[in-house]
Order: sequence, then C-alpha cells, then structure tokens
Amino acid sequence: MKTESALQTLQGVFGYSDFRGDQHRIINHVIEGGDALVIMPTGAGKSLCYQIPSMIRPGVGVVVSPLIALMRDQVEALRQLGVSCAALNSACTPEEKREVEAQLRAGTLDLLYVAPERLLLEPTQELLKTVPLALFAIDEAHCVSQWGHDFRPEYMQLDMLAESFPDIPRIALTATADQPTQNEIVERLHLGRGERFIGGFDRPNISYEIVLKQGLFQQLLQFLRKQESNSSGIVYCLSRKKTEEIAHKLQEEGFTALPYHAGLDSTIRSRHQDRFLQEEGVIVVATIAFGMGIDKPDVRFVAHTDLPKSVEAYYQETGRAGRDGLPAKAWLAYGMGDISQMRSMIDSSESEPRRKAVEHRKLNALLGYCETVKCRRSVILKYFGETPPERCENCDTCLQPVATWEGLREAQLALSAIYRTGQRFGAAYLIDLLRGNATPRHEQFGHSQLQIFGMGKERSQREWHSIFRQLIAAGHITNDIANFGGLSLAESSKPILKGEENFTFRQDPERKHSRERKRDTPREKRAFVPETLRSEPERLLYEELRKKRTALAKEQGVPPYVIFHDKTLIDMVLVRPSNETEMLEVSGVGESKLKRYGKAFLEVLAAGEEIRALPSSE
Ligand code: ADP
Ligand code: ZN
Repeated sequence: MKTESALQTLQGVFGYSDFRGDQHRIINHVIEGGDALVIMPTGAGKSLCYQIPSMIRPGVGVVVSPLIALMRDQVEALRQLGVSCAALNSACTPEEKREVEAQLRAGTLDLLYVAPERLLLEPTQELLKTVPLALFAIDEAHCVSQWGHDFRPEYMQLDMLAESFPDIPRIALTATADQPTQNEIVERLHLGRGERFIGGFDRPNISYEIVLKQGLFQQLLQFLRKQESNSSGIVYCLSRKKTEEIAHKLQEEGFTALPYHAGLDSTIRSRHQDRFLQEEGVIVVATIAFGMGIDKPDVRFVAHTDLPKSVEAYYQETGRAGRDGLPAKAWLAYGMGDISQMRSMIDSSESEPRRKAVEHRKLNALLGYCETVKCRRSVILKYFGETPPERCENCDTCLQPVATWEGLREAQLALSAIYRTGQRFGAAYLIDLLRGNATPRHEQFGHSQLQIFGMGKERSQREWHSIFRQLIAAGHITNDIANFGGLSLAESSKPILKGEENFTFRQDPERKHSRERKRDTPREKRAFVPETLRSEPERLLYEELRKKRTALAKEQGVPPYVIFHDKTLIDMVLVRPSNETEMLEVSGVGESKLKRYGKAFLEVLAAGEEIRALPSSE
C-alpha cells in the first residue's frame, strides 16, 4: 500500500473518484514532509488530509483527538475500509494496550488515535520514539487556544511535539478558528515553517433559522414536528436540568428523545450516545458536553433552546448537522432573557477580567447575528473574514425578508427613561412608565411626574419589549446582573441620545395564536428522502438498501453509517450497479467495502430491478 499514490488510495480504499477542494494539495504537502494548518468547515473532508498521508508515508500516523468515546467509531470506520489502525486511551484494557504496542513495534499500523493526555505521558513518548512515525495530526486544533471556546489545557502542552519529534511533520486541523486563533495554533504547535490551507467556511446545505422565544416548548415542538420521522437531531440546552425536562416532555409527545449531560451516570450517557449513533430518528437533548467529535454524518437538525456563547460556538454546534452534505437545519430560539442570562454567566465566572471582556465581545457578535435583518449566512461568513454574496436563499431572513423601521424617537425615549430614573430599573418598569401605566412604585419614586411619562403610549408593551431587547443586543443598554436586572446606559448610546445617529429596528413577526398552532401537522411520517430520488420505485429501493444496512450494522454492533453513508446508498440507486465492477463506481465503495458488502447490496439492487419494472408514479 505504501507505494500507491494518493489518488489510488482515495479511489481504492475510500471509493471516491476525486479529491475535493484543497485535499490533494494538502495531502501532497504532508506526504512530502511539510507541516500544515488546515481550516475547513465540518464535512469538508479533513480526515482524509491526514489519513491518506499516514497510509502512504512510512511509519504510523499519530492522530491526537480530544474525545476518547468517539475514537472507537473512527477506528471502526477505518477498519471497515481495510485500514490497519488502533486507539490508545484510558478506555483500553492492559491487554489491548499490549496488543497496540506490539502492532506498533511490528510496524503494521497505519494510524494510531491517541488522547492528548495519553500522548503526554512519558512512557507513550518513549514508545513512539522507538517506532517509525509518518506524522502527527492534531484534530480539533482550536483547543490549544486559551481564548477560544473549547480550551483544553493538555492541548497547550502539545508544543513538546516540535521539540521531541522535530523531524516528524505536524498537521493541525479544525473547523473553527478566527485569525487570532489561527496564529495561536501556529505558535503553539510551531507550524511557522508550514503552510496554511484555509478553506471556505460556508456550509451551504445547512439552512439557518432564528425565532423569537415565545413559549419555547411549543415552538420547539412545532419545529420538530416539521422534521421527518427518521431524522436524527440534537437539541441544545444550557442547563442539565433543562435537558432532562425537555427530553421528558418530548417523550410524552411521542419522540424518541434522550437527555445527555455531564452529570448523568456514565453508562446512561454512553447508552444514549450509542442509541443516537446507531438508531434512526433519535433526538438527543443535551448540554454542549455532547457533540464534539461526533462523526455521525446524518444529523439532520441542531436546535438551540438557549444562546450559545459565541458565533464560533454556534457555528461549531450547528455544524454538526449535515456533514454528509444533504440538507440540514439549524434552529435557534432566542429572547431578551437569554441576553442577561449569558451576561451574568460570564460575569459570575472565575475568569480574569481580560477574558471576560473577550467573552462579552464574542457574545455581542452573536447577538448581532440574532438581530440581523440581513442574510444570516452572510453575517456568519463575514465574521470569519469572508466576502460572501449578499443573499444565500437558504436562511430565514433570505426566505422571509424582515421588515425594518427607523426608530430614533423610540430609541431615545427608551434611553431617556433609563437615564431619568437613575439607571437602576428593569425593562418592565420602564415600559410601564413609557406607556403611562402608573404603578404604586412609579408613584412612590415620583416617576409618574416625569416629562417622558406616557410619551410612548402609541406602542404596545410587546413593541417596547422588542425595542429594549434590540438596544440591549446592540450594546447601547447594559443589563448587568450586578445591577439586579436594572438597565443602564452604555457609552455607545450617546450619539443616539444626541440625535447624531439613527437606529433601525427589525419588525418582530406577529405572535402565532394557539389555535393556529394546533393545526400544525404532526411529525411527518414520511422518512427523509433525498431530493435527487424522484420516483416512487427509487424511493422504495432506497428504503430497501437502508434496511439491509441497518441489519448489517446490528449484526456487527456498529452505527449504520460505518457500513455506508446515506450518500453512498443514494448513489447506488442512481448508478444501479449490477455487478462488482459497476459497484466500484459508486461513490463510497472501495475495495474493502466491496468485499464485505458488495454481494449483499447487489442482491437488494437486483430485487429492486423488479420494483423498477413497476409503472412509475410520476
Ligand atoms: P470533516 O472532518 O472535515 O468534518 P470528514 O473528514 O468527516 O469531514 O468528511 C466528511 C464526509 O465527506 C465523509 O463522509 C467523507 O468520507 C466524505 N469525503 C471526504 N473527502 C471526500 C471526497 N474527496 N469525495 C467524496 N467524499 C469525501
Ligand atoms: Zn441567507
């Protein structure tokens, strides 16, 4: 195998016909011994960039990956392809460890996955120094960044690789890293002499939608019912308690919803993760403890019921949907309460002030994204330094343009109300004041005598709520939890108060009435069928292939996608191979998979020819 070219390996082992994007350049660069930083969106195909060089260069490729729980699936997927690989981590029994060591010494491994803490152990390094190494691949490399959202202290210590193994190429890979983080990765891992391969960030198959929180559970239900019944998805919540509550309520509504958080018993946790990976139609309701490194390619939706911490975190979490390139959804419900919740979380954390300031800035960028009236995708891509088209036609603001209105007067009234009352009251109090609803407290503080009292009568309470929310999200009003929910003015509000700057509000959509909600269709019975499969016989055949895959996966206790991805099954329906040679033309069928599964799937396809003979419904 070591004498084959990269392209031969791609075709023979992985069963793909061509490289994508920068893959070929990266792979050749690493094969020739160069260091590299690779930034590519999730699903773009980063793994091949180190897997193929590991197979071609002499020696074993060592892959540093942060999550042990998922190494098993990665190793299994490679073994199915006939690649010799193993994992070394704390989940290994002493016997397994000895076996891996023996394989290393015998030089029979192409790839070795290790957890960072294991790699840092003295004995591991001693062992690695005695065997030929092809390369080091550092996956999820943004974890080295101290200012990033996934900082892992062990990753910082990976700077020893350059010292202890100066001649072994290092390739660092991640899906999310802004410019400063990229620099940090390069510095930490000493990639200065290497090359940077920065791919685009766009995930065109993911559609983005953000709704205003108004009865969260009903909104979530409405969203989930629109998804096909065999779709897997993740619902993210901030607190452990909330994951359990929502999972429970979804179960009552007939969904297969499983909670997942760091506080659950580890056997329950891994059972839930396994069910998510292996069954169809499972929804995991999780804290962000769930998901990093999850390679499941057919996650069809990611729903956030609370604000993520930053655009980076949001993009990474939503990026877990649709790795297979088929259509997927990212949904987020957000409201004013989320802003103060996140602010207070940052303020009450034990981080140093500099870090808190960074976190507040990152949150502000995310709020800007939530409130934008522009194309969501364009806002994200600009944040990552790209120059995208103005519209993507695959996000809520493109598909249902948001009306805006110029609101200098309203913005000034809201800001004055805060100022005149001494910057210590919450939104509800100020809204009553502006609308001229005098409560005993207003009387007590003499605020019903203020000149602005009742000056905002013409707008409803809901409208004022929206005005305050947007001014807070824009950073003109501070809702500091240390101020007990009281609102105060930020420096940036001055030009508005002076009338030097205008403020454009987004028109929030009308609230749906509960009667309308009832009419929503239940979760569609129809299974997820890709658009490329047009006719009924094609769809039936696709279902048959899926059934065969499920049965084979069950037999071996592996996730179905480890056998074949949905895309490969779709391609089988389209290519309709009738023998082994034709089967190799299907994308995702290489030699090893052909040997293992070719016959089984060819039989299903042959039976499908009879179905095809039926008159088409279209
Ligand atoms: P990433 O690690 O960047 O998120 P993966 O390496 O998991 O992405 O690849 C995403 C999917 O794309 C996988 O199913 C992989 O097999 C597939 N893939 C990668 N490269 C190619 C290619 N050149 N042609 C077809 N499919 C590919
Ligand atoms: Zn758009």
